[in-house]
Amino acid sequence: MIMIDTPESASPVASSPSLDTVDVVIVGAGFAGLYALYKMRQCGFSTRVFEAGEDVGGTWYWNRYPGCRCDVESIHYSYQFDEGLQQDWVWTERYATQPEILAYIQHVADRFDLRKDIDFNTRVTAATWQDQEACWLVETGSGNKVRARFCIMASGPLSMPNKPEFPGLGTYKGDTYHPGLWPHEGVDFTGKRVAIIGTGSSAIQAIPLIAEQAAHLTVFQRTANYAIPAANRPLEPGELDAVKTDYPALRAKGKLYPTTIPADPAGPSALEVSEEERERIFDEWWQTKGLMFQATFADLMYNDDANALVSDFVRRKIQSIVDDPDIAAILAPKNSFGCKRMCVDTDYYKTFNRDNVTLVDVSEVSIDRIARDGIVIGDTTYEADAIIFATGYDAMTGALTKMDIRGKNGLSLRDKWHEGPASYLGLAIHGFPNMFIINGPGSPSALVSMVTGAEHHVDWIADCMTHLQDTCSHSIEAGKPAEDAWVVHNREVGAASLRSACDSWYLGANIPGKPRVFMPYLGGFVAYDEKCKQVVHDGYEGFEIA
Ligand code: NAP
Repeated sequence: MIMIDTPESASPVASSPSLDTVDVVIVGAGFAGLYALYKMRQCGFSTRVFEAGEDVGGTWYWNRYPGCRCDVESIHYSYQFDEGLQQDWVWTERYATQPEILAYIQHVADRFDLRKDIDFNTRVTAATWQDQEACWLVETGSGNKVRARFCIMASGPLSMPNKPEFPGLGTYKGDTYHPGLWPHEGVDFTGKRVAIIGTGSSAIQAIPLIAEQAAHLTVFQRTANYAIPAANRPLEPGELDAVKTDYPALRAKGKLYPTTIPADPAGPSALEVSEEERERIFDEWWQTKGLMFQATFADLMYNDDANALVSDFVRRKIQSIVDDPDIAAILAPKNSFGCKRMCVDTDYYKTFNRDNVTLVDVSEVSIDRIARDGIVIGDTTYEADAIIFATGYDAMTGALTKMDIRGKNGLSLRDKWHEGPASYLGLAIHGFPNMFIINGPGSPSALVSMVTGAEHHVDWIADCMTHLQDTCSHSIEAGKPAEDAWVVHNREVGAASLRSACDSWYLGANIPGKPRVFMPYLGGFVAYDEKCKQVVHDGYEGFEIA
């Protein structure tokens, strides 16, 4: 337990001895927050976690829509910090379903007795840095206040649902849903006319299953997405056991790859193989690799010509699956391959061959309004008993700026990030001492297995806090020059990749008014990890330690 040295002061914190004081407050009890709690305990820090949901799980607690599963393989999308845990847990499918992932997270909470330090049904609304006391005053929706020397934001990069304000929504008489706020009891669409707005990862997973159940499904597509067959399957007998014979080696290998997932490209360039060979390789990877199809050749995201080849391959695949050429043409993506976050699917394109599915192209004409009976475009009303707004998230920054976070001299994070998020390593922010973000903007985050990314961050943060303790230091803060340089570096590596070539949530382009900055770090995990280690090796280079 670290004792906060509280000087005599007339500040509200100092004059409120009844306030609870802990070493660390963690916001969020998903994958990141739970490991942070485990690690803080191990380091001897008293810790309190605040979680808005009524149980652990984060994303996997809220997202319960039909078809919800992870598109990173289970053996990689899981914790590696405890060998006993990774030996004991049995994944049943190549890509785990939401219920299985949630059961895993709940098992972790039970196994390490984590729930006792978590306040559920508690949303953090504000965190204010107390300069004199060198601590954070954290406030919750119920008005409770806690002070903490450190604040760890594990609030998730894709946790703040985006719900566009369609005119007339209030007049709609049917039911409305968002994948990230799905009813826990599930939804039975049998006999119902369902409309779904959006064709991102969430919708692409949900559409085939809802189409099987509903009387009719109308899909409103603004931008066609690239969806790769998930190639999901049950894990073969002995397959998981083989992984477990040397799981740490597999984990270590993953850290040598930009995405933390071991997958060697078939070659350096799609342009350097014959047309027949390229087609054969694309086809093999298309059938078997799921999301990693994007890594078939190393230059797909960096060379326009290579990207055009893979884009064309996927468009031809769509044409071969979808019976109606006009519908296939609407579903064929116009953007560069991979500039929006890739989706994986099970029977998505095939679903548009069903008689009870209608595709509405809203790329040129947008939805005018929502009326009592459904969705209105021009003179046409698409009647629906239920509308699913699969319209995504205010990604990377939304959960953070939703809170009223104020650093030194009352500086608000919302104001600081008005022109786009600035951070050092995606971990710390100048002006916000002793606050760390997990999978924050400026870190690899959504471009790696986010569980691995979270563990990496938590380990770095724990080492940093231990260093402060060992050196009797009060606080650590990202220095302005280092933060500025990291922002510039992020923009440079982002600009070099075709991932930044179109509107996407990576850039904040899905939220009206949000500044366009490529938010995840695109330099790859290996370079990022090296930088994090070098910073520590050089005495927390770029940070200011008080
Ligand atoms: P998303 O990728 O942002 O997709 C949102 C969809 O809604 C887009 O098709 C978007 O069109 C559309 N949309 C938004 N506003 C609209 C409007 N006013 N009118 C018409 N269409 C509108 O969101 P998501 O599908 O929830 O996925 C977000 C991320 O979460 C994913 O990229 C992934 O990182 C993660 N995720 C992962 C999994 C998985 O592991 N399998 C599953 C779900 C989500 P535009 O493209 O034109 O903006």
